[in-house]
Amino acid sequence: MAPLEPLEPLEPRGVYIHIPFCSAICNYCNFNRGLFDPLQKSRYVNALLGEIARAGEAGRAGRAADTIYFGGGTPSLLDPADVTRIISACREAFDVSSDAEITLEANPETVDEVRLSAFRTAGVNRLSFGVQSFREPELRRLSRLHSADRARQALADARGAGFDNVSLDLMMWLPGQNVSEWLESVDAGIAAAPEHLSLYLLEVYPNAPLKEDMARGKWSQAPDDDAAAMYLAAMDRLEAAGYEQYEISNVARPGRRCRHNMKYWRDGEWFGFGCGAHGTIAGVRRKNVAGTDDYIERIVRGESAAAESRRLSPTERLGDALFMGLRLVDGIDLEETGRRYGVDVWQRYGTELEPFIAAGMLKRNGSRLALTRQGMLVANEVMTVFV
Ligand code: SF4
Repeated sequence: MAPLEPLEPLEPRGVYIHIPFCSAICNYCNFNRGLFDPLQKSRYVNALLGEIARAGEAGRAGRAADTIYFGGGTPSLLDPADVTRIISACREAFDVSSDAEITLEANPETVDEVRLSAFRTAGVNRLSFGVQSFREPELRRLSRLHSADRARQALADARGAGFDNVSLDLMMWLPGQNVSEWLESVDAGIAAAPEHLSLYLLEVYPNAPLKEDMARGKWSQAPDDDAAAMYLAAMDRLEAAGYEQYEISNVARPGRRCRHNMKYWRDGEWFGFGCGAHGTIAGVRRKNVAGTDDYIERIVRGESAAAESRRLSPTERLGDALFMGLRLVDGIDLEETGRRYGVDVWQRYGTELEPFIAAGMLKRNGSRLALTRQGMLVANEVMTVFV
């Protein structure tokens, strides 16, 4: 493919902010996080403010941003005053729209109505709660700190604090979990009436302490067929309850899709701030150093926090756009993507995609190509075509 000129982003950019602190480390966790330390947290927030301001000065800003996403770790361990300062720094560095979606990931045990009200005053207008399960034995097995009641209370507190855009994360295929136990959590999630739910499949990493806990407790994950049944039954229930699946792992009430995450799936652009954060702006992918202290020290020394910064090749950009876009239930528009990248997408990938269409994993409707629900179960296999 010929070199690509920087493509105009399809929509305003997003801002991702990584908060790497947790009250305890869950036995399955593979994220970039560490134990909360108030002094380190203060230094980290100052470093974040510095990195955001520098991005503004460097002229990487100037374009509109319409989402800010605090991910972690456990961003709800921040003081509301920290969140206020970080959002203000974003507003100074970027042209953040007045109706921007501002999400804070929160763990149920870290919040009450007073704290949530303060986050709302700071400018947060969307919460994403890491609930994972509404069954006590499962929460204990995952070494989570909250109970099912605490999760329900957190949602009630969010309503009390005035939030009308709340998401819950649930995790399926937990050790020792069968299909009906999983569906208990799905039903409890529906009963809690959030605007959005994300469903993830537990991946047990080889060095996760959970692996040893499973051996000791003699818990195993259900067979693969049951994992597929869990996914399909959950999606059926959620749809019957009025949620619309819009991505492999995400459902929402109409109008409540996560605008920030849509940027990842729709070939958008976003800045990433904080340790381990990555961003993609004008075809350049940047990833910050992972270590919290390393990150702080680099910013203090006036150095870049980037561990990697690489201009993606035209082929990589096209591959990413297709790979990520296919995660959406609406799939990808082959003509639009082809025009954007100056290639005939079908000519390039059609031969490899045809067998998946024949097998009922993919469907093509005019210029739209999308996974079927069965195809979502083997999405990684289909997507390797683009890598
Ligand atoms: S709360 Fe989330 S980020 Fe923190 S240790 Fe648990 S799973 Fe990992």
